[in-house]
Amino acid sequence: MAGRVVDLSIYLEHPAVAQPIRITVWNEFIHEKTKPEVQRHYPDGLHRTIADALVRQLGDQATVRTATLDEPEHGLSAAVHAATDVLFWWGHAAHERISDAVVDRLHRRVLEGMGLVVLHSGHESKLFRRLMGTSCMLRWRDAGERERLWIIDPGHPLVEGLAGECFELPQSEMYGEQFDIPAPDELVLVSWFAGGEVFRSGSTFRRGKGKIVYFSPGHETCPIYHDPNVQRILANAARWAAPTGSPYHGQGRQISAPLSPLQ
Ligand code: ZN
Repeated sequence: MAGRVVDLSIYLEHPAVAQPIRITVWNEFIHEKTKPEVQRHYPDGLHRTIADALVRQLGDQATVRTATLDEPEHGLSAAVHAATDVLFWWGHAAHERISDAVVDRLHRRVLEGMGLVVLHSGHESKLFRRLMGTSCMLRWRDAGERERLWIIDPGHPLVEGLAGECFELPQSEMYGEQFDIPAPDELVLVSWFAGGEVFRSGSTFRRGKGKIVYFSPGHETCPIYHDPNVQRILANAARWAAPTGSPYHGQGRQISAPLSPLQ
């Protein structure tokens, strides 16, 4: 059979006509308006930097919009929910100002399959705490210290394209264990800090049909969302968390008429 050319083309699937991932980047947008040390890195808001990075990284694979707290319904109307495949969430000072009605709707959308990427201090958001069922609290120290992120699951899509076993952020806020979350479904990144603490900095969860990423770097006084490795992880997170599979049927119902005879 030497030299025989086997035509494998019949085994190749026709390329799917991929729809762009519809991303909404939500930011409370408070610190950037009042603190020069934050404006220095994010003059148009953290959400703008994150959104621009996603556009650059994902190109025509995604459409990206932003939403902020002061907009009507926090920029998260039912229409925006319905048109969002993956929601990025950055909040810190205003967790309690998010209306329960919006949290209810977001929670339901995650169960239905909307991807959620929770960033940094979003660990304390109403939505993340409800999805986790725990306090989600942690240790912290804002001393601008070095953070080294170890890639402990190199096969995971979240770290696709990153070179090396780890990468460093020269200035970061320390987030340390214990981090009161349920055991993640997948633990992808673990951080070490110059002060000696460690933290589960990149983890994933599934709730209902929804895929959730928690990624901890992102303190507002550090230029972390300008870092190319971080930007790559954000783009990877959007791709990974985007809805896949079949429709969600999460509501219970009594089936009084059996699908087939009972005997
Ligand atoms: Zn912070």
